[in-house]
Amino acid sequence: MHRHYLITAITAVSLIGLSACSNTYKVANERATTKPIIIEQSNEADNHAGWSYSGDTGPEYWGDVEGASSCKIGQEQSPINIARVTASAKDAPAFNYSQAANLRITDNGHTVVYTPATSNNHITIDNERFELKQFHYHTPSEHQFGGQNYPAEVHFVHANSAGNLAVVGLMLEQGAANGIMRILLNGTQLSSENQVEFTANKVNLSALVPTMPTFYHYKGSLTTPPCSEQVQWYVVKQPLALASDQLAIMTDLYQGNNRPIQPQGSRTVEQVSK
Ligand SMILES: [Zn+2]
Repeated sequence: MHRHYLITAITAVSLIGLSACSNTYKVANERATTKPIIIEQSNEADNHAGWSYSGDTGPEYWGDVEGASSCKIGQEQSPINIARVTASAKDAPAFNYSQAANLRITDNGHTVVYTPATSNNHITIDNERFELKQFHYHTPSEHQFGGQNYPAEVHFVHANSAGNLAVVGLMLEQGAANGIMRILLNGTQLSSENQVEFTANKVNLSALVPTMPTFYHYKGSLTTPPCSEQVQWYVVKQPLALASDQLAIMTDLYQGNNRPIQPQGSRTVEQVSK
């Protein structure tokens, strides 16, 4: 009956779990029940999270959210404006992403989250494995390059066995259409239109990241409450091109879910590459 969508990679998997509140970054909750995408109700359904991107629950008040004092008093917060970088001999992370990943697509009231069904997607940093827990996006970008935002930024959230986080940021810019993102965004759109949770099957995640990327590396934080620090950031220098209609799908769902730039303080940003 859905033949007219012509998207065989997408299958509806769930209509349940309406009441769950998933936290984008809390690794321990990664298997928590998630809710289908219901755009009109998404912020309301998530109101016990107690924060948003504007008004009296906006970023300047996040430090008042229970357990989120780091948002206010933290000294190594993210995102930052990346303007000065230091060359480094450190190794860049190596990507080991699947060519056939199955991804659950959900909406947590703050962004759209893509969660792999398996733990086999990972990056390696200094011989240590960090598994891909989920990825999601912000429009416009959260980090800036030389004071400039990009139309969007994808965050690939990884954790090692001790629960330490390493997040890869990938800027999106307007250009040619991207086939992998087409599968993901078509699934996102169908989820939203039909108000059900979808799984995008056999997505070639390895094609989303450059083969030999250069990264801007620094120590920062989660960009949403609780703004926990000790997050290793690796922002990819080379943006990924996306067609304007693809970016429009993202901004139709979320526009302005970017935390303002935070002080860099005494931190340095290192440029690392293979
Ligand atoms: Zn993010």
